[in-house]
Amino acid sequence: MNRFDKIAAPQEMIDGFGRRIDYVRISVTDRCDFRCRYCMAEKMQFLPRRDLMTLEEIVELADIFIARGVKRIRLTGGEPLVRKDVDKLIGWLGERVGEGLDELTLTTNGSQLARHAEGLAAAGVKRINVSLDTRDPDRFFYLTRGASLAQVLDGIAAARRAGIAIKINMVGLKGVNEGEVADMVRWCDAEGQDLTLIETMPLGEVEQDRTQYYLPLDRVRDRLVDTFGLTPSPHRTGGPARYWQSPDLDIRVGFITPLSGNFCDGCNRIRVAATGTVFGCLGHEQKVELREALREGGAAHVDALLDRLLAGKPRGHEFDLSKKAPALARHMSTTGG
Ligand code: SAM
Ligand code: SF4
Repeated sequence: MNRFDKIAAPQEMIDGFGRRIDYVRISVTDRCDFRCRYCMAEKMQFLPRRDLMTLEEIVELADIFIARGVKRIRLTGGEPLVRKDVDKLIGWLGERVGEGLDELTLTTNGSQLARHAEGLAAAGVKRINVSLDTRDPDRFFYLTRGASLAQVLDGIAAARRAGIAIKINMVGLKGVNEGEVADMVRWCDAEGQDLTLIETMPLGEVEQDRTQYYLPLDRVRDRLVDTFGLTPSPHRTGGPARYWQSPDLDIRVGFITPLSGNFCDGCNRIRVAATGTVFGCLGHEQKVELREALREGGAAHVDALLDRLLAGKPRGHEFDLSKKAPALARHMSTTGG
């Protein structure tokens, strides 16, 4: 018997708007070794460890998703590489690649990459996203409230040596890294790393008023069009990014614009928090709780709850920066972006 036989006639996951869900992001911890100002409060209250799914439960859930047609799993957090024994989890999930799963990947702040790079590559991870909002060491220290840029750059270098392709994610922040975007494009091009720019989203209380940081990326893109002659690229990954290219660049530049641009129509994903809560949408409260269902009823109960989630998956997010309060109480570190 293989591990899918216990799940009777699994259905692919199609939501109420006909969108096929074949991508799941799994947060393995809400904890992080950084405190990025737009993401977290300085004194974050993290979950007690007993509230998290065990690594074995994460794998069990992943198998249920794979049986229902999920082709890509991305581990995220918090910082996924600070979860104890995460290398074991990556190894177990890596065994699913080519056996139902097309890709296992990761979004990381890069701080622990140097010691995990070889293990990731050995587990079959071929590409990862590394978040890097600035290449200025002092600004990096300020933005992350105390982290070391050099450590992240070492991590990126180790991952590349291990043969892992890197995509850099940069959140555009008004008055902070706005002036650095063209340099980041040049650096990524020189290093052969794609770059995606992201707008800040109003998730969870942080000390600052988020509107202070909000940078509409259409403005940034116009400037990059002038500097690099960017034009729209037909390239799609099934995600929310829209790509632009230039004959002068070997890389593509992606833009994720939940607030200033269309983001939700082709949504192909759901998000699992480290507790086993699954959210139908990054910008909505709609959710089901899978951890107890898994413990008490196994795959059949989980499937029934997933069907309920899919039927009610919202058409789109409810972000609105004109409101002072964040759209949702949960931080991005709950769902991992
Ligand atoms: N710690 C890992 C990292 O930083 O890559 C993974 C989790 S982090 C929450 C995932 C992504 O969300 C990062 O690229 C981060 O910059 C982004 N992010 C965090 N808070 C955000 C917010 N309020 N708006 C937009 N992006 C945010
Ligand atoms: Fe941590 Fe990532 Fe949030 Fe920064 S963006 S505080 S690295 S979870």
